[in-house]
Amino acid sequence: MTRVALITGGTRGIGAAIWRMLQSHDYRVATNYHANDRAAQAFRDETGIPVFKWDVGDFAACEIGTSQVESEIGPIEILVNNAGITRDAVLHRMDFSAWRAVIETNLTSCFNMCRSVVSGMRRRRFGRIVNISSINGQKGRFGQTNYAAAKAGILGFTKALALETASLGITVNAVAPGYTETDMVDAIPEDIRQTIVARIPEGRFARPEEVASVVCFLAADAAGFITGATIAVNGGQYMA
Ligand code: NDP
Repeated sequence: MTRVALITGGTRGIGAAIWRMLQSHDYRVATNYHANDRAAQAFRDETGIPVFKWDVGDFAACEIGTSQVESEIGPIEILVNNAGITRDAVLHRMDFSAWRAVIETNLTSCFNMCRSVVSGMRRRRFGRIVNISSINGQKGRFGQTNYAAAKAGILGFTKALALETASLGITVNAVAPGYTETDMVDAIPEDIRQTIVARIPEGRFARPEEVASVVCFLAADAAGFITGATIAVNGGQYMA
């Protein structure tokens, strides 16, 4: 049986590496995005992968989007909550809009997406949910109270939902990447990037495929006894 996997925010970066790896392991994959139509169109043209546009921070949109995926492709058995944004500023200069956007897109999205698919997973007695957190949710980072709070919140959310679903064949885990070569890290000024690399014991950023391979491992039927875990992929930068 080919399982259906939905990866949020999969048109670029880590999400794109995740669906590629899942597809290479014979999953039927679908992805979503929010705003960058040009990247999504290029993605669709290049891959032929079904891509759906909605805002993961909007509960009603998640319900509609996941129903659309399920009617076109099949019941969602693997959900990867990957979509995320940053809006960095020190707290004394952070607008409420930057706080709210990051919490809604990175954390509320996990509620919105899981709430939309978990009843089906419970009925079918199978599910794999993987939430993408961050090293900065584990250790905090200057200028990222919003992002660190959202990514730390994901870890608590993951453990609580793992308890609720453990007896039903549904696992819920988190992956906490360190700095990874994507548009998000490309946006960091070069001098700051160099300072960050200097603090990574492996002396480099992660490749998106290195995060994707952990997600793929957790998505497998064979990973059924791993739940509520947080797996760090950070080159030794932070050992929780
Ligand atoms: P990118 O910025 O490269 O890609 C983000 C993806 O998320 C895009 O597909 C984007 O769609 C989508 N997205 C953003 N907002 C929404 C939304 N509201 N609804 C639906 N989709 C949305 O990010 P990365 O690949 O770098 O990051 C992926 C995940 O990994 C994020 O959760 C991030 O926080 C986390 N992470 C990243 C690290 C890094 O160093 N890169 C380190 C640790 C964690 P669109 O193209 O339309 O904008």
